[in-house]
Amino acid sequence: MKNIYNYTLNELEQYFISKGEKGFKAIQLFDWLYKKRINTFDDMSNLKKNLIETLKIDYKISSLKIITKETGKDVYKYLFELEDKSKIEAVLMLHDYGNSLCVSSQVGCNMGCLFCESGRLKKIRNLETYEMVLQFLQIEADLNIKISHVVLMGIGEPFDNYENIIKFIDIISCNKGIDLGVRHITVSTCGIVPKIKEFMNYGKQINLAISLHAPNDQIRDEIMPINKVYKLDLLIKTLKEYIKVTNRRVTFEYVLLDNINDSYENAIELSKLLKGMNCYVNLIPYNETSHSKFKKSNEKKTMQFYDTLKKQKINVTIRKEFGQNLNAACGQLRANYKEELQ
Ligand code: SAH
Repeated sequence: MKNIYNYTLNELEQYFISKGEKGFKAIQLFDWLYKKRINTFDDMSNLKKNLIETLKIDYKISSLKIITKETGKDVYKYLFELEDKSKIEAVLMLHDYGNSLCVSSQVGCNMGCLFCESGRLKKIRNLETYEMVLQFLQIEADLNIKISHVVLMGIGEPFDNYENIIKFIDIISCNKGIDLGVRHITVSTCGIVPKIKEFMNYGKQINLAISLHAPNDQIRDEIMPINKVYKLDLLIKTLKEYIKVTNRRVTFEYVLLDNINDSYENAIELSKLLKGMNCYVNLIPYNETSHSKFKKSNEKKTMQFYDTLKKQKINVTIRKEFGQNLNAACGQLRANYKEELQ
């Protein structure tokens, strides 16, 4: 049976019309699901009995199983079990500007970035739209809070699951439902160029973040296999076009790895690469993981890198660290959790 949280307002309108009903029933349904947060069809009192019966035949309303919830300072990490027993994680961060949810988009990941724990389990499958929607709904319900920001930065490569993440964004930003501001949604990619081009024409003001992590092909080839497919000059050229078409600023994520990409020369090279672009660089302190040979850059080198970019007139920030002690930080989420890999 199909899952009701998989469908956009448009798709549900088409569904109702195909059943000989008025399209606006979809607005009523969205209101129950996403404003009133009712999760049984029988409780949707302004829908006719026979329509409720039809909905019950065609769709189910399910939930994910919350296996564990860990709590740290300003951070919660959830481990969910999906219907096929796969496991994924999602992280909620309490910022001073609001509550930000880091959503997973796949079970496992095929991108193989050497420094990232989340990719140690190869992709098993894409998440369905409803499995992303439910991360949002269930964490809001469980903590009794409102989520103000969503970042697609959990396990998986969002642009390797393009259709489903677009539907997810459509659903959570729909003004007949959750109505999350599109400017509060960020998609992060390791740089899948054809999808960046497609995203360019999506037409919503979503933030795009690029996991760059290197100022040249030599270093990027070594730590991010995707760079062998889409080289840096192609990536940067595509992003310049993206900025022109969308008139949006792009964020570059740059994780500082000791003696790999954190030298003064690297900072200068990065500045040259990004010069003149409407962008900013988010320096990410590396979260060391037990399986990785990479080390975190020390504070002195981090500040030197930051200062060098600043002097070169590149907008730069250092990301606040969250949830390290929970293994809930960037690149520490795991699809397999404790079982298969140690
Ligand atoms: N696949 C997408 C979404 C993941 S976002 C992407 O690559 O953008 C997770 C971010 O955390 C990425 O920028 C990733 O490169 C970064 N990251 C991975 N491992 C990390 C680690 N151990 N410490 C800090 N950041 C890490």
